[in-house]
Formats: sequence, structure tokens, C-alpha cells
Amino acid sequence: MAPYVRVGFQDGTLFLGFGSIRRPVHDRALWEPLLRLADHFREARTQAQARSFLSGSCGMDAHRVEAVMRLLDDGNHLIPAHAYDPADRYSRHALFYELSGAAAVQVQLRLARARVVVLGCGGIGSLVATVLATAGVGALVLVDADHVELSNLTRQFLFTEADVGLPKTEVLARELRRRNRDCRALSVVRGVGDTDDLEHLPDCDLFVVSADSPGLTGVVNAHCVRSGTPWLNACYVNDIAVWGPLVVPGTTGCWDCRPLTAGPPEGEPGLARLVTGINSRYQAPSNGPVNMLASSLAALDVLRYLGGFGAPAALNRRMGVWSHDLSLDGQGAERDPACTTCAEAVPVREGVR
Ligand SMILES: [Zn+2]
Repeated sequence: MAPYVRVGFQDGTLFLGFGSIRRPVHDRALWEPLLRLADHFREARTQAQARSFLSGSCGMDAHRVEAVMRLLDDGNHLIPAHAYDPADRYSRHALFYELSGAAAVQVQLRLARARVVVLGCGGIGSLVATVLATAGVGALVLVDADHVELSNLTRQFLFTEADVGLPKTEVLARELRRRNRDCRALSVVRGVGDTDDLEHLPDCDLFVVSADSPGLTGVVNAHCVRSGTPWLNACYVNDIAVWGPLVVPGTTGCWDCRPLTAGPPEGEPGLARLVTGINSRYQAPSNGPVNMLASSLAALDVLRYLGGFGAPAALNRRMGVWSHDLSLDGQGAERDPACTTCAEAVPVREGVR
């Protein structure tokens, strides 16, 4: 039985496991055998041993034995003994993957084979990169032209006062290597303005876009749809932590399928000029915790997609957590068959190259 299965009584019911694997057991006749079985399972056992324990020591008939085993099996309560090795650096993540119903060994292998390009290594990109590197993603390409500034330190936690003035990607690559020597972190000190810039970057399994250059999302989207590379946007909109959509060309909607952001009006050049002028003075109120919120949820979706456990929350949706009241927003970003950008897109092949 997985070590994440806790048991307890609340409101007169036995609960087997908590969180998404929680199973209430209302049938009192099952309480003692279930608890005795869970106690028996504190050591690794085979399912055959469990069945014989239930029928032998607990005196259950075959029908009830199977009912109990089904209850455990359906809820991801049972995992292979080799899935959890406390000495392994990824052991606690392995339990998380098993909890999600995936084989941890396979997830970890897929992550180790993956290469992610992080466009923009500021408040969000640097945190996403930290999560991915420490989770065992095999290679990260860190792209940013900026240098560390004192005003970055409220949210770009891997940079120190001593790093002020150094290229962000170089500091970040150094820090990621210190945290996981198995992650190949490549620093690319350059901006990304057009498709040409993107084509000079190494091939990857996924782009994370967390740079605030105007128009970058459209450029990345066009490049990714053409090359069949999945990509995910992560950002904040003032006090809203935003991630998604996770665009999987040929499968999900793309950035251009539906209008996801407000902009200048079409066919109204006078108004459009005013809107552009007003927005040109925009300075984002960036906040550490809001950056962390967007980064962590974006990084979890990247790990889910690359590792193949659970369903990414941002497939066909642009998600937002409003930090002032913690409400959740999901803008639909489904595929529009008439979208001029992705109409011809063919599905990306399954799995990580
Ligand atoms: Zn589209």
C-alpha cells in the first residue's frame, strides 16, 4: 500500500486516503478488515498475499475480498514496491505521480529525456525553470537578454545582490546546476523578437513563454504551430496569476483561435492610436507571491504534459487565479477550425522526443 494512504475517522465514517484518493467507507463491517489489511500492508506484499490475508485472517468470503481489493486498486492506493525509494532524490515526486495514477519510473524517464526552452527568465521564467530542473527535466535552454537588477530581487529568488549586473540566464544556469547536476542548463543571452530568433534555438519538446515583449506570444505561436512544438504562456495580469493556454499544435486551440487579450480596436485607427499610446506607459505591478502562483501552476502543467501524469489544467484554457480573493477564471481557448494560423496544423506525435 502506498505510503501516502492515511486513514482516519470523521463524522462517523472511515476514510481511506485523503485528497483525490479519499474513499469514504460507510459499511462498518469493512472497517476492521480494511484497517487490519492496511496495517498488514505497512510492509510490501503481493496482491495474492493480501487476498489470502483477507480470506484467512479476516474470514471474508471471495466476493467481499474482491470488493476490498477493487476499492484499493481503483483509488491508486496500491503501488509497486519499487516505486518508492526514500534514498532517491525524486522519491517524494514519485509518490505524487503514483497518486495521480501514473507509473513514477516512466514519468521520471520522460522528464529526463525532455528539453524545454524558457523564453524570459524573470519573475516567472526563473521560478518555472527552478521547478523543472529540480524535478529532473533533462535539459533547459534559458533565453533572456536582461541583466539582474536590484528591483528584480523581490520575486526572482535565485538571484542575489552579488549577481546585480550579470546576465540573468548565466546566473540562473549556474544556480540550476548547483541544484541538480543532471539537468543540462544552457544560457542564451539574447532577446527573441521574431521567428528567425526562435529558429536559431535548439529543438525542444516545449516552450515556456514568460517574457513581456509586446507581440511575442503571437510570434511564438506561429513558430510553434509551424514546427509542431507545444508551448505554454505564463504571466500575470496586474494582480491575477495567469497560465495557459497550453497549445499542443493540431490537438488543442492555438493563441490565435480566439481573442484572449484586449487590444486596439480593428477598423478604428484613431481609437487604436490612442489605446497604443496610453498602453505604452504601462509598467506592471509585479509581486513575488503572484509570480510564484503563476509559476508553480504553469510548472505543474508542464510536468504533467511532459511526464504524462494527470491532465494539464491549461489545455484549451487560459487560467487565472485572482490573488485578492482567490477566485479562478478559465477563458476558453478551444480550436477554431477556421483559424488561419492553425487550420493546417497536424497533431504533434505522442511522447517526448
Ligand atoms: Zn488557431
